[in-house]
Amino acid sequence: ELNFFFPAEQTVAVIKPDMMDQKEEIMRSIEEAGIVIQAQKTVNLTKDEAGAFYEEHKNKEFYGDLCSYMASGESTFLVLSANNAVEKWRNIMGPTDPNEAKTSQPQSLRSKLGKDILKNGFHGSSSVEHALKSIEQIFGSSMTIRSSKSKSLMSS
Ligand code: ADP
Ligand code: MG
Repeated sequence: ELNFFFPAEQTVAVIKPDMMDQKEEIMRSIEEAGIVIQAQKTVNLTKDEAGAFYEEHKNKEFYGDLCSYMASGESTFLVLSANNAVEKWRNIMGPTDPNEAKTSQPQSLRSKLGKDILKNGFHGSSSVEHALKSIEQIFGSSMTIRSSKSKSLMSS
């Protein structure tokens, strides 16, 4: 079984502050999609931490509002593992704008639960590199150490 040698891809999902009352159902639906939740951490980001998390958007006009939204309460950060985890989670989540999601991906979480293009309820990494950067920011290097350890245990 060749799959044995290729650990599944990781991505980061975030249940944003306005979606926290539905956290349990959301996590259940992630697992029902065949995705493994490897780690979870609930934190109330400061505006500076939110700014670092969304650094790629620092020149966008919505950056200030985005940082305020992300610092407005606790969020739950999840490390997800699956084949094609990045794409799989982005498909479940749906497009950035919930209004667009309602026509293009009506079954997606943002279509069903998102409020508007800012308060869209969820984050998903856009690439494996981006996921790794977020894992290191939120979970620290312990996550990457743990996954390399379990890999060597598996192959021994
Ligand atoms: P995604 O979360 O789908 O990867 P982006 O990376 O483009 O989307 O944007 C990051 C977050 O910034 C979005 O999830 C949303 O909360 C917010 N956002 C994106 N575009 C806008 C916009 N035009 N106006 C307000 N907020 C936005
Ligand atoms: Mg993005």
